[in-house]
Amino acid sequence: MRIIITGGAGFVGSHLCDRCLSEGHEVVAVDNLITGSLDNLAHITSDRFSFLQQNISEGVFVDGAVDFILHFASPASPVDYLELPIQTLKVGALGTHNALGLARAKGAGLLLASTSEIYGDPLQHPQSESYWGNVNSIGPRGCYDEAKRFAEAIVMAYHRMHGIDTKIVRIFNTYGPRMRLDDGRVVPNFLKQATLGEPLTIYGDGSQTRSFCYVSDLVEGIYRLMLSQENLPVNIGNPNEFTVIEFAHLVRRLTGTQSALEHRPLPQDDPKQRQPDISKARAVLNWEPAVPLEEGLRSTLSYFEKALNAEKVEQAPRNSQEPQPIARP
Ligand code: UDP
Repeated sequence: MRIIITGGAGFVGSHLCDRCLSEGHEVVAVDNLITGSLDNLAHITSDRFSFLQQNISEGVFVDGAVDFILHFASPASPVDYLELPIQTLKVGALGTHNALGLARAKGAGLLLASTSEIYGDPLQHPQSESYWGNVNSIGPRGCYDEAKRFAEAIVMAYHRMHGIDTKIVRIFNTYGPRMRLDDGRVVPNFLKQATLGEPLTIYGDGSQTRSFCYVSDLVEGIYRLMLSQENLPVNIGNPNEFTVIEFAHLVRRLTGTQSALEHRPLPQDDPKQRQPDISKARAVLNWEPAVPLEEGLRSTLSYFEKALNAEKVEQAPRNSQEPQPIARP
């Protein structure tokens, strides 16, 4: 197939590029690089791969035949979307509309990256696809939650009105190599803090829960969904649920760090509990996560250690032989 991956330079998008290339497909990654990075694609040498720098909220322009669009473009970390609320709303709404327009023009299928955030601060636990959610539309997370809810609605409208073969994956907390060190999510924060011996920052009392899925498991679920006949949303995530405090202790044990735990204010509307009900993914895709948390965290940790060392080299003072910048008053 010839597959377009919007957000192809991002954390999940770049892993999807790898997977699709390894399956023999041709891949065109499209990204405006506001939260993605070409570093995530630098290892790709295949001549079946190309990259287009485009802001899909303004249109997405790809020549030639297209079989499938994996629509992953969006800021996804709470820190990113709080800084970029308008871009987040635009890419969820206009970007999704443009991606659907491209799918329609090319006769292609489209898979939307949706999110557990569409359940908001959930009143049903664990969350199954039939739950409608509990979202504060005007709160700080509303820009992401409502953008993705709109995206799901327009995808279903294109499916019903134009017969496009659409899929919707609701992604729960995912971690792994290529997350940005500074993306602000709990996994990169804790691993970076533990590596540097800084305090692990616990927001609130740390009793809120999350369930963490390793990126290769997520990619496997998405790939199966793309090839499936399922047009309604499917949760993909790991049902293994931890409180943030339990997770901090796990990171301390795994890294052997002496880092203390430091409490910070809980961000507004931070969901109190989150765990995917994956019965549907099990039944329809014959999928379930395979990578244990400790194993996934170890490979993520070694990625972060390398990334932190590379940062240190970049920031190291220049060799004294080189001309030094003149200090100005
Ligand atoms: N969190 C935390 N310390 C951090 C970063 C996050 O305690 O340094 C908490 C955050 O309040 C939330 C959970 O960890 O309850 C997961 O946050 P993340 O930003 O990873 O993603 P979310 O699941 O909220 O989208």
